[in-house]
Parts: sequence; structure tokens; C-alpha cells
Amino acid sequence: MTIKAYSIEGNGTFAQDVPAFAAAIKGAGADIVLAPGVSRAKRSMPAAAMRAGVAIDTNVVAVQAEGEKLTVQRWAYRQRILTTFTRAARPWVILVDPSLFGEICAQLGVTPEAMPSGAAVETRTTMNGVVAAGKGGESTIKPDSPLLFVAGAGWTKKQADGAAHRDEAAATITGFLAKSGASLGSSKSLVDMPEAAAAFSFMSHMNQVGQTGSTPRHAKGLATCCHGEEPHVVGWRFVNERRAVNLDANCGWAQGKTDVLYVADAFAVMKKVNELL
Ligand SMILES: Cc1cc2nc3c(=O)[nH]c(=O)nc-3n(C[C@H](O)[C@H](O)[C@H](O)COP(=O)(O)OP(=O)(O)OC[C@H]3O[C@@H](n4cnc5c(N)ncnc54)[C@H](O)[C@@H]3O)c2cc1C
Repeated sequence: MTIKAYSIEGNGTFAQDVPAFAAAIKGAGADIVLAPGVSRAKRSMPAAAMRAGVAIDTNVVAVQAEGEKLTVQRWAYRQRILTTFTRAARPWVILVDPSLFGEICAQLGVTPEAMPSGAAVETRTTMNGVVAAGKGGESTIKPDSPLLFVAGAGWTKKQADGAAHRDEAAATITGFLAKSGASLGSSKSLVDMPEAAAAFSFMSHMNQVGQTGSTPRHAKGLATCCHGEEPHVVGWRFVNERRAVNLDANCGWAQGKTDVLYVADAFAVMKKVNELL
């Protein structure tokens, strides 16, 4: 049984390493190919072994050779069961724990060689140039903020004067975010609304809180113009101090889902809050 060991150092891309490692495995002419399970090897060696049509095992912590038989050990079930096994397949690539690589090579009496690299990259992709990436806007999602400010679809609805005031709503919301440093959450209804997209360009589906959205972990939450329906409020399960502003005294928040419900016009309330901040 011939055993060949390769040391793997430095960095390499998957595209370059897979053909290089596969060529090394095939060219080694060995029954057993040993290498340390460093991240570079873990990333590319399984694909290289597949390309070379050989067997591979990773995370091996012990190797025992007895004549033509090789037995290896690796942990299973999160280090609960130590398994011992062998394979008849040859060549057999074995990635051992990097910290044990030197010891295992010495025990088997093999001296590692540097893994050949730099094989020609096989790719069908041709690069025509680089398109300038957009600068992107300021993120409204701030996981470290102590406050979650949720905007609901009510901000887009017709108000007491019979008209919708989306630009005013957007200015009030962004004004509050700038002054308070709060993270912006949204209800599904608002981010799903195509007619609100232009005025509310600072929010997207990424802001949606709820059953099919996110479950943020801010200490406090303030919901405005949001009805407080269960599929939304389920996303608040880690927000312990909650307040809501809604015109409807019977909205979902009133059903024990918030500590304080202000039955008020959120346009007026948030404008006053912005003045005070
Ligand atoms: C399978 C499923 C998954 C879902 N997942 C989610 C989810 O992840 N997240 C989510 O949010 N929803 C989710 N929903 C939708 C959810 O049930 C509600 O439809 C949605 O949350 C309603 O959004 P809203 O409260 O903003 O809008 P609306 O229900 O339209 O409520 C608007 C509120 O604004 C109030 N309002 C209007 N004007 C003012 C004003 N000037 N001042 C104060 N209040 C005002 C109104 O009284 C009303 O209560 C899901 C639904 C289903 C069926």
C-alpha cells in the first residue's frame, strides 16, 4: 500500500484548486492520499476527489495501517461517537485534522510534499469589464438599535381630509429615524404595496417584521399605523417593551399585544415627537 501526503498552505480559489488537486490525486499514483483538513482543502478537495473519481473522507483524527488495510477514526454526532472504519476503494483521499497531520505522517512514515497548484483554470466565463456598483442608500435596518420603529400601511391610507399623504408620511418617518437612530420595521401590507414604493423607497421587504418577515431583538418597539394582526405581531416576540399608535381603539394591539396603545393620529403624534427630539 503506497501512501502519499501533501501539505497544503496559502490561499487558493475553488476554481483553481479543484483541477490542481484532482491532477495531483491522479498523478500521485498512491493508494492513499493524505492531506491536512485546512479550510482550503475542505473547500476544494471533496470536489477534486469527485472529479478524479476517487473516495474521500474528511475530519479524520487517527489513521492505522496494518499491511494492506487502513483504518481511520472520526467523530460523529457532534463529538459524541468515535467511529472506526475502513474502505476498500483505492485511491482513497483522507483529510486529517490539521493539528494531527504532522503526527499522523510521522506515524505512517511518510514525508509530506507541497501540494502542486496553479493548474490552468477551466471556465466558460469570460469577463467583459466591471460595471460600477451602485453606492446604495443608508441602511434603515439597525439590529443594534435599542428601538424598533414599525411603519404600517396606515401611513399610505386616505386620512381625515379624504386624501393620502405619502410624501409627508415618508418625511415624518425618515425624520424620526434620523433623530432617534431607531431601526425601521414594516408590516407586510406596506412593503407589498406597489403604489407606496416610490414614496417609501427607503424600505423594502427586508424591513418586514412578522411571520413571513423578520423577528428582530430590539429592547423597545413602537408601532405606528399598523393594525397589530397576529401574523405581524408574532415577529415582535423578543421585543419586551411595546407601544403603538393607532386611530382604532379596537385594533390588534389593543388585544393585549402592547403595553401602551395611544389611540391617536400617528401623523400628528410623530410630527410632535420629531419636534421634541
Ligand atoms: C400567512 C400570512 C403571513 C403573513 N405574514 C406577515 C408578516 O410577516 N408581517 C406582517 O406585517 N404581516 C403579515 N401578514 C399580513 C397580516 O395579517 C396583516 O395583513 C398586515 O400585518 C397588516 O398590515 P398593516 O397593519 O400595516 O395594515 P392594515 O391592516 O391596513 O392596518 C392599517 C392600520 O393603520 C391605522 N391607521 C390609519 N391611519 C392612521 C393614522 N393616521 N394614525 C394611526 N393609525 C392609522 C388603521 O387604523 C389600521 O389599523 C401575513 C398574513 C398571512 C395570511
